[in-house]
Parts: sequence; C-alpha cells; structure tokens
Amino acid sequence: GAPAPVKARIAVLAGDGIGPEVTEQAVRVLEAVAAARGHVFTLEDALVGGAAIDATGSALPEETLAACRRSDAVLFGAIGGPKWGPSAKVRPEQGLLALRKGLGLFANLRPVTVNPRLAGASPLKAEVIAGVDLLVVRELTGGIYFGEKRREGASAFDACTYTEDEVARVVRVAARLARGRRRKLTSVDKANVLETSRLWRDVATRVVKEEFPEVVLDHHLVDSCAMQLVRRPADFDVVVTENMFGDILTDEASVIAGSIGLLPSASLGEGTFGLYEPIHGSAPDIAGRGLADPYGTIASAAMLLRHSLGLEREAALVEQAVARAVDGGALTADLGGSTSTEAAGTAVVQALESLV
Ligand code: ATP
Ligand code: MG
Repeated sequence: GAPAPVKARIAVLAGDGIGPEVTEQAVRVLEAVAAARGHVFTLEDALVGGAAIDATGSALPEETLAACRRSDAVLFGAIGGPKWGPSAKVRPEQGLLALRKGLGLFANLRPVTVNPRLAGASPLKAEVIAGVDLLVVRELTGGIYFGEKRREGASAFDACTYTEDEVARVVRVAARLARGRRRKLTSVDKANVLETSRLWRDVATRVVKEEFPEVVLDHHLVDSCAMQLVRRPADFDVVVTENMFGDILTDEASVIAGSIGLLPSASLGEGTFGLYEPIHGSAPDIAGRGLADPYGTIASAAMLLRHSLGLEREAALVEQAVARAVDGGALTADLGGSTSTEAAGTAVVQALESLV
C-alpha cells in the first residue's frame, strides 16, 4: 500500500579518497527510494576528515557537527589518506572519533550476510558460509582504548574500565535487535581472566533476563568465539561485545563475505539517530578511478532507512536491489568483475525501480 510519507534530514559526510565516489551512489539510491515511495529526504553535504582539514584546519569543523545535530542521520563515506600522514598535526581520523563522541554513539553494528553468487570471493568454503546472517554489536566508547595510559620506567599500563550502565545500554541495543531477528544473542567476554568481563557477563545476564525474556542468551569466551566465527559462522545471530574484542571480531567477521567493499555499518546511541558508513577505509590505492565497490555504502544507507527513519520496507528493498544488481552481474573489480562504481549504482537504482 501507499506508505505514509516521511520527511527526514540526512547529513552527508563524504570525506576522502573513495569516500565521495561511493557516497554519491548511495545518495542516488536514497533519492530513488524517496521518489518511488513519496518520502522527502533533505540531504546536506558537510566536510569531514582530510577534506575538512584542507578547508578549515579541523578534521571536524563546528559547522559539520551542527549539520549532524540538526539531522536525523548521517551518511558517512571514508576519511584519511597519504596526504595527511601519521606525522601530521591534525589527523583525519580524529574527525570520526570526535563525531562519535560528540553524537553519543556507543553501539557499532556490523551485519554480515553472504550472497551465494559471491561465495567464491570468500576465503571460506561455500558450505561453511552458506546461510550466514549475523550481526556484531561492538561497544564503541569504553574499555581499554579509552582508559588511562602511561609509561613508568620499564613498564607500561593501559587501564580497562567498564561501568554497569555502559554495559547495560549496549546489551539493550543488541537484545532489541536480536528480538527482531532470530532471538539469539551471544555475549562475548573473557570472564575467566578479566574483572571487566565478569561485570560484562553479570550485566548481560541480568538485562536479558529482566528485559528480554524472549531472547536466548549465551556467553562465549572471545578466543573460542574467534574460532567459531570462521568454523561455523552460520550459527551466530547477534553477537555483543566490548570495544577491543569487537574491533578484532568485526574485522575477522568481515572476511566471511569476501570483500571489504560490500559491508555496511551503523553507529547508534540512545535514540534513533545514527551514523552509517561502509566498513572500509578511503582506499587511496584505487581512489579517483571509478573502481570502488559502492555496495557497502549503499547497504549502509539501507541501515539508515531501517534504524533512523523507521523505514523497514524501504531498507529491505534496497538490500534486495543490491542482491539483484549482483545477481545480474554488476560486479566491481573487488568482486572479480569490471563494473564501474557508477554503473554499479545505476544497477541498484534500476533494480529498485523494478522492485517497487
Ligand atoms: P583505514 O585505515 O581507513 O581502514 P585501510 O588502508 O586499512 O584504511 P582500506 O582503505 O579499507 O583500508 O583499504 C584496504 C584495501 O581494500 C585496499 O586495497 C583497498 O583498495 C580495498 N578496498 C577498500 N574499500 C574498497 C571498495 N569499496 N571497493 C574496492 N576495494 C576496496
Ligand atoms: Mg583499516
């Protein structure tokens, strides 16, 4: 039936390298969704990363943060490149960290699904990855990455801290998502040796028992989870874990799908606001040549429709359109084909128009 029209503001932070190339295609897809379903999306471009440093001296200008704050969601490309190297005074990556902090985004979602047509691109056997549909939820603003760090003589210290509230809020995000999927939640920790992990396990157990009785929770130690992820990835539904374990497990999980160019991510806070970006970086080695795979950014736009705008049907349509484009042979170089970034975007837009 005819959907109720939704009005939304989306800040578009294309960034550096292939960021603008892949973001342009995701914007085309969002515009096609709006046209086909009668929604009104107001898109506002803003500078971030190296592009922002060159223009303003800051990786996250005030104006960009303000543009994000007056929006319902942020579509983000990628930042960084050789031009703003490790010795630079201001680094592009600070833009993303400041943005996550400034916007209160504490849960990072990385779904992994496998298109059978692309099974050959994965280093894992086709029968191992068949049916994979998992979602890793990583805590993004706490843990050892943000703890006190110091050197003392011949010793070095990194403090790992979590509060009950920090654990509870990210477990809630994950449990809510599990409830809308296969109702299976795997909490990952290292409770046999770490106190923060024992807290993590206690809080996860309590939150799920009290607030999500329909969700089945199990606990994995991070080492065994790392093994299971490549042995039996199809067994997982939603995985929730702390910052450092999540950093490592999400990179591991990303190889299941075959190309880093395919995978989306979302960073969420308490409300519906979110920041959506492909998991890959700015890929300076292929930037400016029309070679980049835009599917991960387009899939990120689908997540934006789902989580920030409440447009589940539209999100599913975009995901189906990407699958159709791939099935129709629109394969970029990373997928073993020779389709250009723009032609891949066109294939998705056309598939979308045939689906609605
Ligand atoms: P960062 O530190 O920002 O994560 P990185 O150098 O670790 O950057 P990427 O920029 O993601 O990683 O690039 C890793 C490799 O994957 C590069 O060879 C790059 O060309 C390739 N790659 C990344 N994204 C894509 C894409 N969308 N399409 C095709 N290839 C890609
Ligand atoms: Mg990287």
